[in-house]
Parts: sequence; structure tokens; C-alpha cells
Amino acid sequence: METLQSLRTWITQQQADLTHWLQYLVEINTYTANVQGVDAGMDALCRLAENLGLTAETVQGRHRLIRSGGNAGPRILLVAHMDTVHPPDDDFQHYEPQADGYIRGPGIGDIKGGLLMGLWTVKALQMLHPQADVCLVVSADEEIGSPTIQPWYLQGLHGAHYAIGLEPGFPQGPLQPSVTMGFVEQRKGCGRVHFTVRGQAATRVGPGSRA
Ligand SMILES: [Zn+2]
Repeated sequence: METLQSLRTWITQQQADLTHWLQYLVEINTYTANVQGVDAGMDALCRLAENLGLTAETVQGRHRLIRSGGNAGPRILLVAHMDTVHPPDDDFQHYEPQADGYIRGPGIGDIKGGLLMGLWTVKALQMLHPQADVCLVVSADEEIGSPTIQPWYLQGLHGAHYAIGLEPGFPQGPLQPSVTMGFVEQRKGCGRVHFTVRGQAATRVGPGSRA
């Protein structure tokens, strides 16, 4: 209880830093195909992690792994990503605080808010248990199915005993400040289907008809 209270006090003191970094990350366009932008977001996040006393390394090319530094098992892996679905030429580019307390912005919910929540969680656990083995993995291409980090996940290269995704858990019904966010136990996954359709240009009068 005492620990929980001291954590609450600490996280409240972090509010200004969290808000500053959320704005900073949201203002960097990290659309999946914008490789330069995603890498810039990754670099900024890793600088922040190192400033917090955590370590950061690159895995599988462009993905990042942030660690608390302890090595006493079990290993807990927090899973997030840097890329978003918002292209650089989209109108939706900026951090926009709203009158009701919400903040709009590309990737705020999915997943830059989660990224920062994860980072501060790793820091909190490091302070509570310096030997704890807690990691945050940040994929560069999750929005298209994480194709370049899949082997790392599927072959167990992370060595994790437990994993928690930091995707937003939306409640049922309207999204309002009075409705607490939920916890999603499982997801259906994703599928991708490619269709190749061949045919002959025609009107509805009949095949080949130009009438
Ligand atoms: Zn996501």
C-alpha cells in the first residue's frame, strides 16, 4: 500500500514530462512507409530511455529494445510500436488538446500514449526492483503486421516469460473522460487477402459490349 502510494506520487510528478514527450513524439510523423520519420521517432524514444537510466539497443535491423537492466527472471516483455497509419500528407498531423481533457493527434491512442506508459512502467519497476528483467520492444512496422520483426517474436528470441501489448483497450460505448479504459484479454489477430481480378471492360449490357 505504501509502495502503491509512493508510485502514485511519483507518477503524478512525472505528468509534465509525460505530456511534453507525448507532444514531441506525436509531432514526428511515423507513418509506416515514412522510414526516416519512424527512425527519427525511434531515436528520440531511445534518447529519452537513456536519460531515464534505461538501456536501448537495436534488434532485427530497425526495431528497438529498451531494458531495465536487471537480469533476475522472469523476463517481462512490454510490446509496442512506433509506426502509425497516418501518412505525412494527411491533414491529421498535430497534437491538439481538447476542452474535455482529451488530446487528439496521430498515434496518440495507437500507440504513442502506450509507448510512454510502457517506458515509465519499465522505469518504475527498475526503481522498485533494480534486478527485475523488464523490457519494452518497439516495432517499426506493426501496422502492416510487423513483417521484419516476426522471426524475433515467433522464434522466441526475446526470451520473455510474460508479454503485455500496450495497444489501447477501448471500452464499449462512447469514449469520454468519465469512462475508464478497458483491458483486452485477446484479439482476433489479423488477416490479409490479395485479389487479382481479370476481365474484359464492358457495360452491364453484356460482356464486350460498349453500348
Ligand atoms: Zn497499434
